[in-house]
Amino acid sequence: MDRHTVLIVGGGSAGIAVAASLKSRRRDLAITLVEPSDTHVYQPGWTMVGGGVFGAEVTARAMDSVIPAGVNRIKAAVTEFRPDQNSLVLNDGRELGYDWLIVATGIQADWDAIPGLAATLGKNGVTSNYRYDLAPYTWELVQKTRSGRAIFTQPPMPIKCPGAPQKAMYLSCSAWLKSKILPQI
Ligand SMILES: Cc1cc2nc3c(=O)[nH]c(=O)nc-3n(C[C@H](O)[C@H](O)[C@H](O)COP(=O)(O)OP(=O)(O)OC[C@H]3O[C@@H](n4cnc5c(N)ncnc54)[C@H](O)[C@@H]3O)c2cc1C
Repeated sequence: MDRHTVLIVGGGSAGIAVAASLKSRRRDLAITLVEPSDTHVYQPGWTMVGGGVFGAEVTARAMDSVIPAGVNRIKAAVTEFRPDQNSLVLNDGRELGYDWLIVATGIQADWDAIPGLAATLGKNGVTSNYRYDLAPYTWELVQKTRSGRAIFTQPPMPIKCPGAPQKAMYLSCSAWLKSKILPQI
């Protein structure tokens, strides 16, 4: 079993930020990042995609390009934590030991909590900025809507960025205000 000083699980905004912060304070610290995806996505940027500020591709980078220098990456997913043994298991069967563990795996949106939602997302005028592939559809809908009723919903906690649903509304209204159609909506 390989042993690591600091193991970070997850190369999203949290995992990368923690790795960078630790490295900037302790250059000699041995840090290993466990992350299966080759693409790092900057999720807060999806608000701007839905608001027409920039395209979704701006929010996606090659994973290796955002990992701080000197941080070692293992391309795999964790399938089991064994805190009693200070170890975890990867999806390729390897077991890794650690002195310090940081888990930053994010949270998953539970689309099925609303019956029928998953089937209609991305069509029928139903969208969400909480997905990379859907945020561009938000902007498409904002541009296409010239009058009528637009409904914005905000789920209860726990959700990622409780402000995000409101930001979608403010940015949509700002676009409609600029094109002088807000009173019709
Ligand atoms: C539309 C939107 C707008 C937001 N706006 C803001 C904002 O304005 N301000 C703000 O502070 N926050 C905002 N957030 C919230 C938050 O900052 C982001 O969601 C951020 O991406 C969370 O980072 P994370 O690293 O915790 O999770 P993620 O970015 O989801 O990263 C998790 C990583 O863990 C990896 N992973 C998952 N499971 C495993 C496993 N078993 N083994 C190994 N790796 C695994 C994934 O591949 C992924 O790379 C927003 C979120 C969204 C969706």
